[in-house]
Amino acid sequence: MPMKEDDFADWYLDIVEKAGLSDKRYPIKGMNVWTPYGWKIMRQIDGYIREEFDATDHDEVCFPLLIPETQFAKEKEHIKGFDEEVYWVTHAGKNELDERLVVRPTSETAMYPMFSLWVRSHQDLPLKVYQIVNTFRYETKQTRPFIRVREIHFFESHTCHETCEKAQDQIEEDIQILARIAKKICLPYTLLIRTEWDKFPGAHYTVGIDTSMPNGRTLQMGSIHHYRTNFSVPYDIEYENETGEHLPVHQTTFGMSERLVGALIGVHGDDKGLVMPPGIAPIQAVIIPIISKKSAEEVSAECARILRLLKGAGIRAKLDDRDARPGSKYYDWEIKGVPVRLEVGARDLENGVVSFYRRDTEEKGTISAEDIVPGVRMLLDVISESMMAKANEVQKSRIQDIDSAENIPQDKILRFGWCGCEDCGHKFEDTYGFKILGTPYHPEPYQGSCIICGKPVDKPAYAAHTM
Ligand code: ZN
Repeated sequence: MPMKEDDFADWYLDIVEKAGLSDKRYPIKGMNVWTPYGWKIMRQIDGYIREEFDATDHDEVCFPLLIPETQFAKEKEHIKGFDEEVYWVTHAGKNELDERLVVRPTSETAMYPMFSLWVRSHQDLPLKVYQIVNTFRYETKQTRPFIRVREIHFFESHTCHETCEKAQDQIEEDIQILARIAKKICLPYTLLIRTEWDKFPGAHYTVGIDTSMPNGRTLQMGSIHHYRTNFSVPYDIEYENETGEHLPVHQTTFGMSERLVGALIGVHGDDKGLVMPPGIAPIQAVIIPIISKKSAEEVSAECARILRLLKGAGIRAKLDDRDARPGSKYYDWEIKGVPVRLEVGARDLENGVVSFYRRDTEEKGTISAEDIVPGVRMLLDVISESMMAKANEVQKSRIQDIDSAENIPQDKILRFGWCGCEDCGHKFEDTYGFKILGTPYHPEPYQGSCIICGKPVDKPAYAAHTM
């Protein structure tokens, strides 16, 4: 197996294949097959996302995949931004279509003509919907499973509000939802307001959600946008207020994708394989019987009992009773990153305990067989906390303050002064080859000067090489 620190790109591909996450041999480049274990992980994440958005009064919808060209082209910035990466449907059978259809790269232009029919009065607001669907973008850069693909498993929420302030409140709610989702996956992230030239096409502003990967590059896992009325005006989404006035709604969106899977592989994986965060691990504990001739029956019975108890308590447990050596079973579940391995052998039975192994730290120990449910539950909590703490520390160590343009480290996220003007921004990006990720969404105390023009600044900017 390639080593994570030495050769991240090969290590990543190797894990995706050996852990059974995705098969990239499908005969369309960038459109990969979700194989069972990878799909189970994605479904765990989707399930948790659904829980969060349902609990905050969003309704799940499912819109058509195809969008008529005239609808797609209504918002000028938006069409310009996606022009080079959309797929078109031009024929139905042998007949050329009167109007070309876009295969959705995202769903603003599919949803908003319908929103204009759905929203009538202030009583219809806020409108909060989401969907989990596949989107399509023609990537020209080198593809990589989960990180850069052409068919993307995608989550998107879309909201409409009476005022700009209420839309802003929605963004605050999104940020809280994000914090809970990221904690579940033990992923650290930064929230940065993207530069004007890098914001979502058509947005008033965009908040990028980035995490850092072992090769020092950042990965954008998702984004949150405030649209103000930039889409509601061209798409005619208006409501009547209490005094009978007709006003355009203020809109937001929040998008995340299968990149969350790419992020968790990169952030948590090690040279033995995946390390799954317990919160979304498809299997949280695997039970392995250590069979010897005289204890076979008792060991099997005890393993079955533990499985029943754990499953009954809502813990995602699996009994591996394949006819194989324990060592080869260990190897399989380590690659798949199962957080806790439980073993039961003759000696464990005698002592009334179950042996455990933690995937994240490789620690071993025992749990009293009587307390197996609370014991495993506590272990999973401890693992989550420790994975989060470790990932936070690594992320923090990758951010470096820079006060001059000399000796810029290539493998860090740079924190530096930028006056905010486009000229200095472009000059910085062009000269040093870094991309400006933006300025902090949550203000950070800072005193410095623009790295290009020297003007004093009181907020930092962040830049990095990106995945
Ligand atoms: Zn400047």
